[in-house]
Amino acid sequence: MASSTKYIFVTGGVTSSLGKGIIAASLAKLLQARGYSVTIQKLDPYLNVDPGTLNPYEHGECFVTDDGAETDLDLGHYERFLNVNTSQANNVTTGRIYQHVINNEREGVYLGKTVQIIPHVTDEIKRRIKLLGETGKYDIVITEIGGTVGDIESLPYVEAVRQLKWEPNFDCIVLHLTLVPFLAASGELKTKPTQHSVKQLLESGVQPDILALRTEHKLTDGVKEKVALFCNIAQEAVIQAIDASSIYDVPNLMKAEGLDKVVLDKLSLPHKEEPMLTAWNEVLSKIQKPKHKVTIGLVGKYIELKDSYKSIAEALIHAGARNETKVDIKWIHSEGVNNENASEKLSNLDGVLVAPGFGERGIEGKIATIQYARENKVPFFGICLGMQAAVVEFARNVLNHSDAHSTEMEPETSNPVIYLMEEQREITEKGGTMRLGAYPCSIDKKSNVYEAYAETNISERHRHRYEFNNEYREAYIAAGMKTTGINPDNNLVEIVEIEDHPWFVGVQFHPEYKSTVINPHPLFVNFVKASSLVKEQKLAIANN
Ligand code: GLN
Repeated sequence: MASSTKYIFVTGGVTSSLGKGIIAASLAKLLQARGYSVTIQKLDPYLNVDPGTLNPYEHGECFVTDDGAETDLDLGHYERFLNVNTSQANNVTTGRIYQHVINNEREGVYLGKTVQIIPHVTDEIKRRIKLLGETGKYDIVITEIGGTVGDIESLPYVEAVRQLKWEPNFDCIVLHLTLVPFLAASGELKTKPTQHSVKQLLESGVQPDILALRTEHKLTDGVKEKVALFCNIAQEAVIQAIDASSIYDVPNLMKAEGLDKVVLDKLSLPHKEEPMLTAWNEVLSKIQKPKHKVTIGLVGKYIELKDSYKSIAEALIHAGARNETKVDIKWIHSEGVNNENASEKLSNLDGVLVAPGFGERGIEGKIATIQYARENKVPFFGICLGMQAAVVEFARNVLNHSDAHSTEMEPETSNPVIYLMEEQREITEKGGTMRLGAYPCSIDKKSNVYEAYAETNISERHRHRYEFNNEYREAYIAAGMKTTGINPDNNLVEIVEIEDHPWFVGVQFHPEYKSTVINPHPLFVNFVKASSLVKEQKLAIANN
């Protein structure tokens, strides 16, 4: 099985941010709908061993897999499109490759040899590319190469692709995504950047098999013909990738262009069944033609770069579709909220989501937001740091511990209601050392979260160092903050709720990572539902 796995490399040219991840995920979706088992891998050319230590301003959110890998946000797209989990092997960085090669060198694996980019680094890249195929689980592996061809740091990856294209018994094709800009002054679409980008790949010895051309305007046959002629590509393998109103419409656009068929022909694979995408398009039509609308405030400190909260924003779209509701996200900077302006900033919202995060900046704004939501009965959803801030707020304003805090922000607080987990205390290294990946949680039947999950045993993904301090548990419960989700193995509090409130839920885990188009996350679905309900009630009162 493994030796018959076929590979598709996706490279990008001309500019970054062309949406390689979405094209790769859309192609994978179509191949999956035809009956193939497909996975997608992302190779990132930076020297960080993983993106876990990156500030979200750099490349957006860090996505976490079940097996605890801290990965590029594109893996989130892969999971949301395919509804299949990814793993450690699905994201590889140059840092990880070099770390492995240098460790080998120290261990004497290459004893006597000069260790070089070619073959040692390229061999390690090739080994990582083949790992997913070797599991025997996939008919097709799509490997997306981050960055833009021509970048110095992408060169070893393109070289690895060149070598693989020549390797006997390794079946692969290259799909190259470029941009066809529209010059408004002359009213023309321009193909020269694409021609240059393909030349750049050719200089590295790689002839792309398929070109996808990102464009704002429909491509004429003339444009496709010209690109085909200058880039040594059959015309049917020149694919238009036009801007879409929703990323979830891209599989349909790619199907209309015949991308999946061209790919299968080039890989000598049968077309199998026509991809219907029935369930998928039902969701899409609910996204495109919603019946209702709610406004949710997303309070965080990285909102200048919306990709910092990618999975949350997408989970709200999925949950909105399930409720036939458009979720309008109002992005609110946590640094700008305080007790004086909370009402002005938050009173028009139907629900408030307080986002995950790290460190001191903006924390008081999150706490002020939560106080407003708690006191004014605005549906509230706190995720990770958002849940911890809810615990701190409750301690300060209900339990009357005015100095309560998380020891992350205030190590000397006399009421450390959120504190460092025992196993974290000795850890000094930052990379890959948080509580990461999937952990079980037992849910109390008398809770809003049970209504959402309709299950008592769930599993959710984590990424944090700090925890609810169990010494305060009784006091919280007595005052009305219930601990409705507990880790059955170590008794850690994973969910808090306030009973006397329409919907007030804080979760220590990250439910957003598990929301997909086909399976919207139950907590997001219920949060949107509760927000709609509160909105309707407010309207009914106003109209009376
Ligand atoms: N900074 C907090 C912790 O490490 C929360 C992390 C998060 O929101 N992902 O526990």
